[in-house]
Amino acid sequence: MDDLDDLYQEIILSHNKRPRNEGPLDPCDCQAEGYNPLCGDKIRVYVRAPGGCDGLIEAVSFTGEGCAISRASASIMTDAVKNRPRAEVDARIAEALHLLTSRDEPAGDLMTLGDLAALAGVRKFPPRVKCATLAWHTLESALKGEGSASTERE
Ligand code: ZN
Repeated sequence: MDDLDDLYQEIILSHNKRPRNEGPLDPCDCQAEGYNPLCGDKIRVYVRAPGGCDGLIEAVSFTGEGCAISRASASIMTDAVKNRPRAEVDARIAEALHLLTSRDEPAGDLMTLGDLAALAGVRKFPPRVKCATLAWHTLESALKGEGSASTERE
């Protein structure tokens, strides 16, 4: 298991160093700001969905300041949901939040979950779980047109 932990840590560090899809989207169809007061992570999530946020989510990006876990999670999130229909995006959000907060062992083959699986390693550090869920809650808020999300308002 130690080797796996190292692998996950490596994935998180690499996303933090070279985040995917960082920077504002222009044009952007909906966006939201997320804040995790426990750690001070702040991110903004941008969504491009020309047909509306109920249709195809073409692209997702993020900007913000935060710890390595919050940034890696945002980077992994943008890659995991872009170019997918809304229903699939909702399913991925649910899958990620379950992975991050459930006490069960992750279902299915971890390797097929890809970088998303790396986030599951965070469950061993309960104070950091909200760093990892922030990007996903913020995406949810953007899609619902809520404008902002806080990990302390659940
Ligand atoms: Zn954090």
